[in-house]
Amino acid sequence: LFTTFQARALDAPDTPFLILPDLSTITYGAALARCGQMAGLFRAAGVQPGDRLAVQVEKSPTALLTYLAAQAIGAVYLPLNTAYTAAEVRYFLADARPALFIHRPQDDAAMAALCAEIGVPARLTLGADEQGTLAAGLKDYAPDLAPYAASPGDLAAILYTSGTTGRSKGAMLTRANLASNAFTLKDYWRFSQSDVLLHALPIFHTHGLFVATNITIAAGSAMILCPRFDVAELIRLMPRASVLMGVPTFYSRLLAEPAFTRDLVAHMRLFVSGSAPLSAETHKEFSARTGHAILERYGMTETNMNTSNPYDGPRIPGSVGLPLPGVELRITDPETGAVLPLGAVGGIEVRGPNVFKGYWQMPEKTAEELRPDGFFITGDMGVIDPAGYVAIVGRAKDLIICGGFNVYPAEVEALIDAIPGIAESAVIGVPHPDMGEGVVAVVQARDAALDEAAVLGALQGQLARFKQPRRVVFVPELPRNTMGKIQKKALRETYATLFA
Ligand code: ATP
Ligand code: MG
Repeated sequence: LFTTFQARALDAPDTPFLILPDLSTITYGAALARCGQMAGLFRAAGVQPGDRLAVQVEKSPTALLTYLAAQAIGAVYLPLNTAYTAAEVRYFLADARPALFIHRPQDDAAMAALCAEIGVPARLTLGADEQGTLAAGLKDYAPDLAPYAASPGDLAAILYTSGTTGRSKGAMLTRANLASNAFTLKDYWRFSQSDVLLHALPIFHTHGLFVATNITIAAGSAMILCPRFDVAELIRLMPRASVLMGVPTFYSRLLAEPAFTRDLVAHMRLFVSGSAPLSAETHKEFSARTGHAILERYGMTETNMNTSNPYDGPRIPGSVGLPLPGVELRITDPETGAVLPLGAVGGIEVRGPNVFKGYWQMPEKTAEELRPDGFFITGDMGVIDPAGYVAIVGRAKDLIICGGFNVYPAEVEALIDAIPGIAESAVIGVPHPDMGEGVVAVVQARDAALDEAAVLGALQGQLARFKQPRRVVFVPELPRNTMGKIQKKALRETYATLFA
């Protein structure tokens, strides 16, 4: 991908690569020059090919370019969630042993101590305003892009998973993993040089860093780089964009704005959603409001993207679409690993050039989740319909077993979400003295008059008795992480003693 970026920069240096909220632009040529300076600075700081280069910085053009500069010198890029505390960062640094750590200027004292303790040899700082020792240091370097001769199997990044189900794991992604997925998605979603992607996702996660950025590079197009998700900003900048990539909360928040109208988005080419389930209700409401069918896709840190609703064919609400070209997907029995027939619910496994090399320094975990034939056990449960569309019914770890029967949370959530006055729901299992687990629905209502009896009443006759929630709990807001993922582990802890 770096070669593609470099070629575009040499070919069309004046083409915009990044557009900032004030509408100033950074061209491909300027971006390449800045990468070249960074390459010089990073090499001088001691970073060798194969070394990890860790960053925990606010989103900015320079922050994004550290990713490309790392590729230029053959370093392994390791971005960290900006929300991680110093104590959490200690774990990641000790695990990954980077040669260079780029962090925020305001964290200087804490990170200096941490790096000294762990033995991270070099540090640079980069602030939200792009100031710090990185920017200051760049001035001393002329662009140095004597390219590192990478091979496709080289590690490009170690990206830590979101930590939704347990401690975050470092997924080792090769250059070939990233490039294959970027070019596949560019073709599948019909990206061209004239696209402008509205980018309001964080750049420490696969969605904003790889899906959005790598497709842009693969297509030679531009991105409007917003420092964060802000619904008013998105509406202001939408007229300049052709594509939006978001997590489901982007779409529900946009729909809550009267200024988000059909006219505002009439010119848009594509809306993509992923990272968490998009409710069928939001999908339908969005179509009714705008005339655009959101294209939902499914992926994860370990594999990049696996499935997508089609660009031309039907984009089905509640479905994550078809396996991408080159990606094989099968449904297996979670106990035996046997491949299940079409229409059966089971574990989702994927194989393809997108699938990672393994977890960083976790050979046992890697062996547990990668089958000998190369299929990766995603940890998600799903079903394939006769047309080949995949639907996710929940994570294996969120599966509820009530009185010996399996309850798939997504099925119950979809019915609850369809009740008028419900904003969103999360269905979990918590210990129950008779049933093993009892089904609990945690709901966020739009209508304050809704109560437990109303929700339970609406589910009567729609669901087998054993799938019906025993309790419905109302909360002002469901707990989510920065990617809009509902934190079911936290909910299970909160309601652990509901049936005790
Ligand atoms: P951890 O692996 O550390 O528990 P995580 O799985 O949330 O965290 P990510 O790699 O960021 O970390 O997220 C991938 C997961 O997100 C997928 O396995 C799946 O459960 C969920 N996901 C992604 N896209 C979709 C989607 N369109 N619909 C439903 N779930 C999705
Ligand atoms: Mg995961």
